[in-house]
Amino acid sequence: MPAIARRPTLDDLFKLRPYTAIARISHRRNVARLLAGVPPYAIETMRRHHVPREWRICRFCQARGAVEDESHILFSCPDPALVAARELYFVDILAERPSALHIRRRVSDWAFLAMTLMDEHLVTTAAAFVHSTFEICKATPPYEILTDEDWAGVPEAV
Ligand SMILES: [Zn+2]
Repeated sequence: MPAIARRPTLDDLFKLRPYTAIARISHRRNVARLLAGVPPYAIETMRRHHVPREWRICRFCQARGAVEDESHILFSCPDPALVAARELYFVDILAERPSALHIRRRVSDWAFLAMTLMDEHLVTTAAAFVHSTFEICKATPPYEILTDEDWAGVPEAV
């Protein structure tokens, strides 16, 4: 029988998290936006315009199935700028804490990002990574699929 997770106490809920003390305000704000579920990725920006989820396609990939959500942008989009940001994040984290490599091999991408955001020594690097993905996305207009005709012209993923 699986263990029942302990309910968080109010002290747990209101505990100061390392990302709330990030020195650069823009980085802190963008981490808060990611954690609150309002990143500048199509999954959120096009939701506000009632675009169907499967139509909120990655501005870089521009292919069916490549929904521009948090997981895609942060961990799997092949856009060269995003790949470079991802690689810099991992290199910088490993430079700061070489033992993180063992953790990285055992946990999911999300769990690793969460671990670095919750670590007072690694949070600055993690926040810089999140911020860079926001800036990369903001520099390229979204791929807008607004009609069935637009959708019919979207190529299948390679
Ligand atoms: Zn993509």
